[in-house]
Amino acid sequence: MNLQKLFLTQNECYKEGTTMTLVGIMVHSTGASNPNLKRYVNPDDGLLGHNPNNNHWNQPQPDNMKKCVHAFIGKLANGDIATYQTLPWDMPGWHAGGSANNGYIGFEICEDNLTDKTYFDAVYQEAVELTTMLCEQYNIKPEYPAVICHSEGKSLNIASNHTDVMHWFPKHNKSMDTFRADVAKAMGYVTVPNYPLLKRGDKGDAVKTMQSKLNDFGYNLTIDGDFGPATETALKDYQQQNGLTVDGICGPNTWSALNNQDE
Ligand SMILES: [Zn+2]
Repeated sequence: MNLQKLFLTQNECYKEGTTMTLVGIMVHSTGASNPNLKRYVNPDDGLLGHNPNNNHWNQPQPDNMKKCVHAFIGKLANGDIATYQTLPWDMPGWHAGGSANNGYIGFEICEDNLTDKTYFDAVYQEAVELTTMLCEQYNIKPEYPAVICHSEGKSLNIASNHTDVMHWFPKHNKSMDTFRADVAKAMGYVTVPNYPLLKRGDKGDAVKTMQSKLNDFGYNLTIDGDFGPATETALKDYQQQNGLTVDGICGPNTWSALNNQDE
């Protein structure tokens, strides 16, 4: 991450100067095709470049609106990708159009025309790194609803009716679920999905998943989603081979072993 700091000291939001208790992070994208940081961040520090249009956000009410965010991710004058912190992290921002302003850090990813995969991958990675840093710094879990985008905030009734970032991420095979998973991975979490406890007699898709994973280790189960005697025998054998409690029940430790070993 290329993290720079340039507070929007002329913005009314900054001038209010209050603090908040952080509960989460809200990811935004700008909704306009202009990937250049200088469109929003001002004055030129020698890296941003000059914005001749005077429409940056370092003024009391940019575009005649009360709006301000904690950071922008976009392009420097030389084309490199950077992150600019524009408000103290614990200062309430004006990004959500709802109660999320009090508690959520909000940052904007500068949109281009939404089709450039190279640009998308670079700013997505920058956003993952920024969110990872903030989650670690403020003890925020990279999970829903602590790490959300604007449109998820709308669904939670804590933000206004905007579509960002889900009009963009899926075009490049990403989502807020992949985003949260990527942050969790960067934070060193071992991903243990929320699989249910399974025992003999259980039926369903989770049983199929378990049977399939067991077969990856050389068992020869019919993947029928029916936890019968053959499945139980295979599971107990797997537990025995892997130093797990041999109880024939697929609980968190067995799931964790099955999931982690197949990577
Ligand atoms: Zn937004």
